[in-house]
Amino acid sequence: MAKEGYSLSKSTFIRGQQCQKSLYLHKNRPFLRDRLSPEQLAKFRRGHDVGKLAWQLFPGGISCAAAHPTQYRASLEKTRSLVEANTPVIYEAAFLHDGVLVFLDILTKDEAGWHAFEVKSSLSVSDTYITDAALQHYVIEGSGLKLSSFSIIRMNPDYIRQGEPDVIGLFEPVDVTEKVAGMHAFIAGQIILSKEVLALKHSPPIPVGIQCYNPYPCDFIGHCWKNTGKDSVYFVYGIPFERRDALVKAGYTAVSDIPEGVGQESEVAIFSAYLSGNDLINEEKIRVVAGNPGQAAFVAFLIIRPAIPLFDGFRPFEPVIAGMAWITEDGSKGEFLVRPGENPTEKIREQLGKLLSENGRIFHAGGLSATTALNTTYAGIVKQYPIADLSELFREKYFYRPGLNPEAEIGEIAAFLKLKNRAKSHLSAIMQGVTYLEEDKNENEEPSDRVKQSLHDDALSCKSVYDFLIKTINQN
Ligand code: SF4
Repeated sequence: MAKEGYSLSKSTFIRGQQCQKSLYLHKNRPFLRDRLSPEQLAKFRRGHDVGKLAWQLFPGGISCAAAHPTQYRASLEKTRSLVEANTPVIYEAAFLHDGVLVFLDILTKDEAGWHAFEVKSSLSVSDTYITDAALQHYVIEGSGLKLSSFSIIRMNPDYIRQGEPDVIGLFEPVDVTEKVAGMHAFIAGQIILSKEVLALKHSPPIPVGIQCYNPYPCDFIGHCWKNTGKDSVYFVYGIPFERRDALVKAGYTAVSDIPEGVGQESEVAIFSAYLSGNDLINEEKIRVVAGNPGQAAFVAFLIIRPAIPLFDGFRPFEPVIAGMAWITEDGSKGEFLVRPGENPTEKIREQLGKLLSENGRIFHAGGLSATTALNTTYAGIVKQYPIADLSELFREKYFYRPGLNPEAEIGEIAAFLKLKNRAKSHLSAIMQGVTYLEEDKNENEEPSDRVKQSLHDDALSCKSVYDFLIKTINQN
C-alpha cells in the first residue's frame, strides 16, 4: 500500500486521544521519544502472547498479519479476498477507511453475518478500549463490511485454572456493538481533528498535565517535562496526581504559590513539610508496626503476575510468590527460589513457616502484590505470625520526607534516604518476576543470578529502612 494511503493507525489515533501533541511529536519528531522501559516492553510481549492464545477460541483461521509496513497493502488485499470468499475465521484482518488503517484481532463469519473481536490482556473494559473498538467499527463499516456484532474479549477475572488452560473459561467476550456503533460521528470528528494536528507546522501548545500519565505513561515525558521546575506542585509526591494537576490549573504552579490553608488536611501537612523541609513522622503508627523488639527476618519476595495463570488454583494476573531472599537481624542471609515452571505454593509455604518459626516475625520489602499474595495464598500463616509490609509505612505517609515518593520501591526509599547499608537494586519488582518467567523458556536454566542478587538487595534495603525507622522514633 502506498504510504499516502493512510495517515492514522489505531495506535496513533489512540495516542491523539490521550494528547494531540503526542500524536504530532510521534509523527514529526519521533527522535524526541523516550526509550521504552523494560516494563513496557514486557507488557507488549504479554499482550502479544494473550492475543495469540485467544485465536484458539476460533481455531483454523487465516492470518493477514503484516510483519512490516511494506506488507500493509498485501494484508489489505488478502483480507479483501478472504472476506469475498466468506472465510469463516480471519486473524489480523486489515481495513482502510478515511485515511485510517486498522488490524482487527479476529473476524468471524456465520449465518448471522460478520463478527469482530478485539482481544485485550486485561480484566476490565476501559473507556480507551471502547474508543479503540469504536474506531475499528467505524473503519471496518466505512470500508464496506457490515458487522453484525463487535465484542471486546477480556480475561475472565473469575477463571481459576485447573489443569491445562481452558481458553473458553479464560476469555470473556463483552458485546459492545451498540455502544461503538453509536460513536461514529464522534470518531469521524476526532479523525478530522487528528489530521489537522498532523498538518500543523509546529507542535500544538499543550502544557504538561494529567494526560501525560493517563491512560498510559506518554513516551515524550522526557522532552515535555524537562523545563518543569523542581519546585513545581507536580513534584509534590504523596498527593494524588489529579489533585496536583487541579492545583496547577488553578494557578498554583510552585509549592510556594500555595497560600496557607489551601487543600485538604493531609495536603496542608505535606505542603508545610515541603516549605519547612521537615519530615512528617507518625511515631505511634510506626511503633505499632515496627516498634516491638525481638528477632526478625527482612524478606524480599519474588512475585510473578502472569496474565494466563501458570498453576492450578490461580486466576489471571493473580500474584504468585515464586521465591524469596532474606537477611536476619544478626546479618545472616538466605534465599529460596522455586524452579521456573513448578507450582511454588507448597514449597513457599514450607519455607515461610520455617523462617517464621526461626525468627518470630517478618518485615517484607512490600508492594501491594506481595501483600495480596500473602493474604490470599498464605492466609493461615499471616493469621498465625506477625508479617508486616514495611513499604506500607511510607505509602500511608506515617513517615514522609519531602521529595520521597511514598509509592517507591524499598530500594528506592533506601537510596533516597541515603542509607549507608543498602545495595542498589537493578531490577524493579516487576522485572524480577518477568526475568524469572522468561528463564522458564529454558528448562535447564536455574533462575538467574541477576534475580537473586536483586532480591538480596531488596532484603538488605528492607533491613536498613527498618533500622532507620526505629532509630528515628527512638530519637523523638
Ligand atoms: S508528555 Fe504530556 S504534554 Fe507531552 S506529548 Fe506527552 S502527553 Fe502530551
